[in-house]
Amino acid sequence: MRVDELPIDGRAKALYAEEGISELYPPQADAVSAGVLEGKSLVLAIPTASGKTLVAELCAIRHIMGQGPRGKVLYLVPLRALASEKRDEFSRLGRLGIKIVLSSGDYDSNDPSLGRYDLIIATNEKADSLFRHRPPWVEAITLVVADEVHLLGDGSRGPTLESLLTRLRVINPRAQVLALSATIRNADEIAAWLKAGLVTSSWRPVSLKEGVFCKGSIMFKDGEVRQVPPRQVRGSEKDPVADIAADTIKGGGQMLVFTGSRVSATSIAKRLEEPVRQLLKAGEERRLMDLSSKLLGMGERTRLSERLARSVSYGVAFHHAGLTYQQRKAVEDAFRAQLIKVIASTPTLAAGVNLPSRRVLIYDYKRYEAGLGRTNIPILEEKQMAGRAGRPRYDTVGEAILFSRTEEEREFLMEQYVLASPEKVWSKLGVASSLRSHILASITMGLAHSLDGIFEFLDGSFCAYQYGMSSYRSSVLEAVSSLKSSGMIREEGEGLVPTPLGARVSELYIDPASAKVMLDGLRVRRSGLPSLSYLTLVCHTPDMPKLYVRGKEAEQVMAYLQDNSDLLLYDLPECGSFEYEMVLAEVKTALMLKDWIEESTEDQIVERFDIGSGDIHAYVESAKWLVHAAHELARLMGYHESAAPLRSLLIRIESGVKEELLPLISLRGVGRVRA
Ligand code: ADP
Repeated sequence: MRVDELPIDGRAKALYAEEGISELYPPQADAVSAGVLEGKSLVLAIPTASGKTLVAELCAIRHIMGQGPRGKVLYLVPLRALASEKRDEFSRLGRLGIKIVLSSGDYDSNDPSLGRYDLIIATNEKADSLFRHRPPWVEAITLVVADEVHLLGDGSRGPTLESLLTRLRVINPRAQVLALSATIRNADEIAAWLKAGLVTSSWRPVSLKEGVFCKGSIMFKDGEVRQVPPRQVRGSEKDPVADIAADTIKGGGQMLVFTGSRVSATSIAKRLEEPVRQLLKAGEERRLMDLSSKLLGMGERTRLSERLARSVSYGVAFHHAGLTYQQRKAVEDAFRAQLIKVIASTPTLAAGVNLPSRRVLIYDYKRYEAGLGRTNIPILEEKQMAGRAGRPRYDTVGEAILFSRTEEEREFLMEQYVLASPEKVWSKLGVASSLRSHILASITMGLAHSLDGIFEFLDGSFCAYQYGMSSYRSSVLEAVSSLKSSGMIREEGEGLVPTPLGARVSELYIDPASAKVMLDGLRVRRSGLPSLSYLTLVCHTPDMPKLYVRGKEAEQVMAYLQDNSDLLLYDLPECGSFEYEMVLAEVKTALMLKDWIEESTEDQIVERFDIGSGDIHAYVESAKWLVHAAHELARLMGYHESAAPLRSLLIRIESGVKEELLPLISLRGVGRVRA
């Protein structure tokens, strides 16, 4: 199917012709045949890089440039990094007069300016929070693109996506839905739930060979066995991962290595430094040195950034959430430019931005899960890592290889992953905390006015589709009763209505349980409290991520707690209980934030808490959102003794400075380091 024959604006056809996109890929043609350009909703479940985004673009062009039911397009993605990537990718559509915006910023805002744009890109969480403010432009949306819709099965982020889609279909039932997914076993169920058509395919622009490495050779799924030549080195320097890397680079390729932990990613990068350096081409070493010094100049200097800069100077990098966004982006860009030859990464990269590589080596198929210890990763995740293999335009075939140490392990990996198909995606909306939050949202948004209304609303969820709502009846009743007892909703006649508190909590986009923790703490109305009291309070909410407490740290944190227990705005649980262990993690997190607002350098924090700059920024981001919420609740309830200190704490967290620097920080262009 030719692009110039599609029912889209001529200017768009010219743009694609210029980009060399003249013929649709087979799954794209299937999507068009399924009526996606005529407004039919569709689930498109095809491998990475097989052209999902182009289908979304063609649809968006139809909606915005007027051939279809003219309207706005909402493009949903699961991660901020992906949102930026999409904004950059779509910016060229600006030439067609399409106005594109990335909705970022705080959760507690309705961003009225968004109404001026045609194509709004947002993370699922951001869109969910925006809708709580009922912006007028929601009704003008005629196309919703939901990227990576298989994340419906993700325990932490799935429920948001699910309730967002459920709600959108109630608010805006005529909007076309285009759900993009990795290949999963039950894409048909998602399609049936969304009342959409389905296109699935395993077609890829670059074919994929999957196999398992064991003792010097790779056994592929198709039966081929290939030797990996060992490098000529002394016995102590033998390293099969370096052999695989060298073999890849010598053939003009690049490699992504996936491993289970940050420590392992860093150490693999380190041990590949010398073997990779030996294979660099003329001029590359210089360019890598330049990149290395650029990395050192990004943000505050820490031992982690020094470690990264060093590896990069050899043509290798590691990649994980401890790095800052800028560091990760620089590494990704240099890999795309084929300057960095190998990246050793934690699994976060697999679900992240588009980063193809000739070879993918899955070094470790185990991962640490809180409460479960080291567990095998799901097949879906392994397939997403494997799907990164094969660079369009550069490779004719991509190779995804699992690493094994014994014959037995090789057999296991072959059966368990290479020959297996991904698991089914199961809804996670039925979890109590998700229900609580989403029931409150549906009441405050006027989508449900009674208990029956709540059931009717939830009946449209994927959860109800898969399990039937009757199995969740008692959880729903429990959630409603907890919302009533915490004063967020109340009965009025036969119906349920939100209280001003409930309405504000929903807009603030926090778990009602978090609001309860905050209110219980602030109700005491003590004045003159130190910032640590408020920090430990927000860290005590279920919305705040917590730092992990290592064995030897527990005693230090316990000692600190004993000396400072009078500062806590909640009752300390019994020593030794599970709740007490949680409090230790919360207090450690609060102490890290305290260091941040007391102007410790990032490097000191990195050293003291064994985290990366990327983590500091992520925790600061969460704390900002929750301190803002606590401040708003204090104002709403008239708790003036807390409102003012929470306000200045918020600015200190935003800027990472002491109280006395607040006036300086308010000057334009003065940041933490300069102040
Ligand atoms: P996905 O979203 O499925 O991961 P993309 O839409 O990002 O994949 O496509 C991967 C690459 O293939 C992009 O660089 C895109 O420009 C290119 N591409 C997509 N469709 C075509 C096509 N029909 N012809 C040529 N290149 C295409």
